[in-house]
Amino acid sequence: MPQIIDGKAISAQIKDEVKAQIAALNTQGKKVCLAVIQVGDDPASSVYVGNKKKACAYVGIESLSYELAAETTQEELLELIRELNAREDVNGILVQLPLPEQIDEDAVIRAIDPKKDVDGFHPQSVGALCIGQPGFVSCTPAGIIQLLKRSGIEIAGKECVVIGRSNIVGKPMALLLLRENGTVTVAHSRTRDLREVTKRADILVVAVGKPKMITREYVKEGAVVIDVGIHRNENNKLCGDVDYEDVAPVCGAITPVPGGVGPMTIAMLMYNCANSVSL
Ligand code: NAD
Repeated sequence: MPQIIDGKAISAQIKDEVKAQIAALNTQGKKVCLAVIQVGDDPASSVYVGNKKKACAYVGIESLSYELAAETTQEELLELIRELNAREDVNGILVQLPLPEQIDEDAVIRAIDPKKDVDGFHPQSVGALCIGQPGFVSCTPAGIIQLLKRSGIEIAGKECVVIGRSNIVGKPMALLLLRENGTVTVAHSRTRDLREVTKRADILVVAVGKPKMITREYVKEGAVVIDVGIHRNENNKLCGDVDYEDVAPVCGAITPVPGGVGPMTIAMLMYNCANSVSL
């Protein structure tokens, strides 16, 4: 049987570390405050925002909540961001994506002060990651590095294949694995022979956004398989981009869905917020 990488336990450990860090900051008279903005009332977004606020309460981060109407204009949202950028008592600003179609997401991301960009989506944060300078790192890929390290999985020198090249997951994931001295390949929708590429991987990160697409034919025996996907199947049960039952018997380690990558994203958001004080 493979090693099951326990994202629930590891994320709880990180949240407790952040909690201790916040308590230490409080004793120095420093508070940490995250502003969370949601535009509209998309049910999935509301669940994510609720979970983020709950995590803030747990670790001792104050959260300010801005619930804006779905018809909010881009200028109104940018004005709020400018206000929050200027407030000294606000350390982090998070705008829940996706945004309604009248709002340009890129313009919103660029408006956030990079010192408060706890999601790590600002071009300056991405550029810093690219050239190995300090800055906020996108939470999901940062969480995957923590999952690997804290499960005793060595990255240096390994063949790492990332399927997916999104700005939020695939690209920062590739950069982080490279920073950890992995030999990194990025596969995507135009990759000619996906199986031939993924079969080389010692560490395979799957962020393809297609339920159960990755079966054992894509996986080298003994490989570490990290499943970023989150989907609901026909029975309303959660599943990932990896066909877990098919792949688990042949791989060396695997993240389950739920309980793998999912909980790490919020834990790393808390980690970024705590570190926003020193940036
Ligand atoms: P995306 O749709 O932006 O990107 C998918 C990528 O997969 C694209 O770069 C595309 O080139 C590639 N792709 C599509 N079809 C392919 C194919 N047949 N062969 C090879 N590559 C192909 O998705 P995303 O935002 O990167 O998210 C990926 C998955 O991770 C989704 O299921 C999403 O729900 C999930 N996700 C989970 C978390 C979390 O916290 N666990 C966070 C973000 C995203």
